[in-house]
Amino acid sequence: MIRASHIDMIKTIPWSKTDTIIKNTPNEITKGIISRTATLRHWVRQAYFPCPNEQLQQIIKNRDQQFLNLVRDTVFNQPSCPYLKLLRHVGCEFNDVQDMVNNNGLEGALHQLAEAGVWVSHDEMKGREPVRRGSAVFHFKDSDFDNPIILPQFFNATSGSSGPRTRVGISLKHYEEQLLHTSLSSVFNSISNAETGLWLPPSEWAFSRLLRFARLGFVPARWFSQVPLRPPITPIKTLIRLLGFKVVLHTCQVPVPWPILVESTKPSPVADWLCSVLRIGRGAVLVTYPSSAVRLCLWSEKKGMTLKGTVLIVAGESISRVNRETIEKSGAVCLPLFGTTESGESAEACLCAISPDDMHIYSHKFALIGRNLNFGTENGEKALLFTSLGTASPKIFLNAETGDVGIIEERACGCPWGDLGYNTHVRNVWSYAKLTAEGMTLPGSSIFRILEEDMPSILGGSPGDYQLVLEPDSAGLNNYLLSINPSVGFLDTDNTREIFIKALVSRKASSALTADFLRRAGQLHVVRRQPIVQSGGKSLPVMFLRERIDPILNKNKET
Ligand SMILES: [Zn+2]
Repeated sequence: MIRASHIDMIKTIPWSKTDTIIKNTPNEITKGIISRTATLRHWVRQAYFPCPNEQLQQIIKNRDQQFLNLVRDTVFNQPSCPYLKLLRHVGCEFNDVQDMVNNNGLEGALHQLAEAGVWVSHDEMKGREPVRRGSAVFHFKDSDFDNPIILPQFFNATSGSSGPRTRVGISLKHYEEQLLHTSLSSVFNSISNAETGLWLPPSEWAFSRLLRFARLGFVPARWFSQVPLRPPITPIKTLIRLLGFKVVLHTCQVPVPWPILVESTKPSPVADWLCSVLRIGRGAVLVTYPSSAVRLCLWSEKKGMTLKGTVLIVAGESISRVNRETIEKSGAVCLPLFGTTESGESAEACLCAISPDDMHIYSHKFALIGRNLNFGTENGEKALLFTSLGTASPKIFLNAETGDVGIIEERACGCPWGDLGYNTHVRNVWSYAKLTAEGMTLPGSSIFRILEEDMPSILGGSPGDYQLVLEPDSAGLNNYLLSINPSVGFLDTDNTREIFIKALVSRKASSALTADFLRRAGQLHVVRRQPIVQSGGKSLPVMFLRERIDPILNKNKET
């Protein structure tokens, strides 16, 4: 039964009275922990009342004003805000932004701002590169982009996959805002009564999903992790946070399972659990990476098991046609999501999808525009620039790149999301800032330098002779192919692979785990072939392919 709107509920929840920033002295730390524990307990115990459709449609209609309110509070009222410096650099004050929105709509205004130079790249937002706009140079830190109107209750770290880990402050308000789409999704996909599970390492996404599921009344029954829960593979801070959540939720009679190690290559415990749920006539939901989902489905097919009745919520890696077909062949429903640690989930599968990862942007929380890249892509994808509309996003996004590209479309699709007014779709999404396969990620910026500088200097040849290609195999699992122009001459495959892996660790020490994975799992294949040239005539050191190039891969693979 609907008794309160989403917005009213947010206003009435008293977290602001108990919001606590981490203190320095032992006494204050203890007080902070007690306060945060009480807040979390209070939050989890409350009933959640979904937003009525009419009010949700009203929220979407009011997004222009929502943006203006947020930009006033988090940008123009914050003298140290990086976006304010970019706006002032182009002579833009709040009234100007207001006029742009009124005259051209929100997305039109964002395009105008981006063209004027008011946007930040993924590396600029991480503080890894200065922001250069015309003759002006700005030096920002990652923390400069923190949302100034929240007081974080928790601190988590980004995966560190595309560079050094950065700290992200999380407020329970952030989870609260995401409950809206989580609850809508559970209705649209008929999973409100399903048994849920996670197959993810402890991460911000796993914690967020776990808490939201718990709040909506379907606590995950199983938690599997692809990596062992021991340092340094799982950081000690993450283990402490995991233990804290488990204890607090236990006191709320929410029995959160402890993650059990199930490597992605050995999915039988996950399949057994799903089948035990399906056997008693219940639906099942599993949140995991696309590659893990594919391995699960392949394993089930091999054993003659059907996963009909299962919904696989997948994110964290790009989803190819073969990925999706392999998942759906098992009988399971594939539900792709998109999100970042800094913004939370921001897009979800269209139920009348026209491509494997056709997703609806959560338009009540985000605006999305595309920016032309300085390199070509297979299908004309553009860099995705997100702008926050929700008040509790850990970072403020104003035309901020996430390091991903995709195709953005306004389209009426006829699915329940579209009927509610979520008409912005994004598809063909892949990350140029980080290349992810099997849940392991290579940092794009380091890879560029390794391929353009390190490999030619060690093995010969020149920049352009080396490409790293993320390419699906016949089952849809992404493989890293280190592709080398035959003109470089004979190379020993194992030695070449090892040189690449050592260069990766040398460039980025935190890639040690990924390097170890590449060695153990044999995920990095060395092939000899001419560099792939894109439709625009350019040949990039890093390529993402949605389809496998069979003949070249098989014929020219060096042994
Ligand atoms: Zn749709």
